[in-house]
Amino acid sequence: MSAANVVAFIGLGNMGTPMARRLVESGLEVVGSDISAEARERLVEAGGTAVADAAQAVERADAVILMLPNSDIVEAAAAGILPSVQPGALVIDMSSSEPLRSRELAGVVEQSGARFIDAPVSGGVGGARAGTLTIMVGGAEADVQAALPVLEVLGRPTHVGAVGAGHALKAINNLMSATHLWASSEAMLTGIAFGLDPEVMLDAINGSSGRSGSTQHKWPNFIVGETYDSGFGLALMLKDMRIATGLAERLGVPHTLTDAAVAHWEAADAELGAGADHTEVARWLREHLATPAEGATA
Ligand code: NAD
Repeated sequence: MSAANVVAFIGLGNMGTPMARRLVESGLEVVGSDISAEARERLVEAGGTAVADAAQAVERADAVILMLPNSDIVEAAAAGILPSVQPGALVIDMSSSEPLRSRELAGVVEQSGARFIDAPVSGGVGGARAGTLTIMVGGAEADVQAALPVLEVLGRPTHVGAVGAGHALKAINNLMSATHLWASSEAMLTGIAFGLDPEVMLDAINGSSGRSGSTQHKWPNFIVGETYDSGFGLALMLKDMRIATGLAERLGVPHTLTDAAVAHWEAADAELGAGADHTEVARWLREHLATPAEGATA
């Protein structure tokens, strides 16, 4: 795709806004849409064009990027835009959607005369701003190749398999990430309750075998300073965990530990409510600390 191409961007939230901004900055013409007027305004400030009607956004687009909360919303948005999508245009679902539903959606998109790939991302809002997202791409080779010039503006795309493969891998990654975050938060809170300094702990752990993205990134950047502002919602993480454990169930793979993780995240979600950042599970756990047994602290 050349710089003259038009990209439609549907879903201008925490991730969509910085991603669309990067596309604008790369010289592409970006026409975006979101149900939120505030989100549309952010794209205009970034130099893009914003329209309330998503169907209008896709009319001239060679590539249509979806960056929406979940498969229900992706499918509803697709139904609204497909009659207006150009023949041969590439619909790229960068949301973290359900892989089996993505396969079905690919068939619907193809029937309408367009093409479909899934290209979910990892790397958070920081990665979206910096254009360093890990992009897990599922689709036919020719379609993936056609998408590369746009995807490379946003990060590092890797072709991981057929349609749905990207979405499967993304959910699996987040199941691991969420399970790590819960386990490392219980472990970190144990050390803190014992009297250890969290920064000292993280320094040692990050040079040891207990380290993970949670100890290297989430604890130091969002939890120790109690900002809880990663920009990734708790409810979205829980959605991804359920997608991955649902896949394990369908494939006959044991998922006892990760089922327990889902139940823990569900308990936190029920109390923290809509709008909570996913890193707030550490705060929620700390608030559920019981009184230490006598002689247990340093
Ligand atoms: P978000 O909730 O901040 O943004 C979603 C946007 O979609 C909102 O602006 C909302 O108004 C808009 N929207 C909802 N329904 C719509 C519709 N029918 N038509 C048009 N717009 C609609 O979510 P986010 O954090 O940007 O995440 C988007 C996707 O990316 C999710 O699937 C999420 O799981 C995934 N993801 C998020 C992160 C992160 O760090 N935030 C990282 C990787 C992947």
